[in-house]
Amino acid sequence: MPHLSTGDLLRAAVAAGTPLGVEADGFMRRGQLVPDALVLRILRERLEKADARRGFLLDGYPRTLAQAEELDRITTVDLVAWFEVPSEALVARLAGRRLCPTCQRVYNVTTKPPHEAGRCDDDHSVLVQRPDDRPEAVAERLRVYARDTAPLLEHYRSRGLLQMVDASGSPSAVAEKFGQLLGRATRD
Ligand code: AMP
Repeated sequence: MPHLSTGDLLRAAVAAGTPLGVEADGFMRRGQLVPDALVLRILRERLEKADARRGFLLDGYPRTLAQAEELDRITTVDLVAWFEVPSEALVARLAGRRLCPTCQRVYNVTTKPPHEAGRCDDDHSVLVQRPDDRPEAVAERLRVYARDTAPLLEHYRSRGLLQMVDASGSPSAVAEKFGQLLGRATRD
């Protein structure tokens, strides 16, 4: 099942300098949501590819009630996994996150450091920090989350689609929990 991250799709558009990427860039740098219409356009384009025909895993979408309504027009949602992490842990994770600009591999200076400090293990590129992982942008992302995204919790809970995932552990522990959830959902 393809894993489709709207953040990744938007970052690729920014890196490629497409008109949509140029428009999205400022919002992303500030830690704000990209307008619904732009995100929807990039998502719809991706969903037209053959690999999405038999189902897909969306990561980072929907983030607003309007996006959730659009999604209902496009497809039937089977399951919503909500990853719960205390805010302090989240802030620490984002502050430590580093990205390889060449292969997009993700590191963390404390929990998943590269072999050589500041360099990608695979291609030796100099690792960078995502502009929206800087403290001012992280604070804005948390505000936007509380205002625009948290209401989705009740939206999906009331429809019986919501599954909470304790995401406070290590990446492998969280992946294990999510894998079990997906396994159960695809068996049912
Ligand atoms: P992420 O990689 O999921 O953390 O997303 C990074 C940034 O991309 C977000 O802070 C937003 O600026 C933008 N973004 C990703 N997904 C969405 C979405 N569904 N709606 C609006 N903006 C989004």
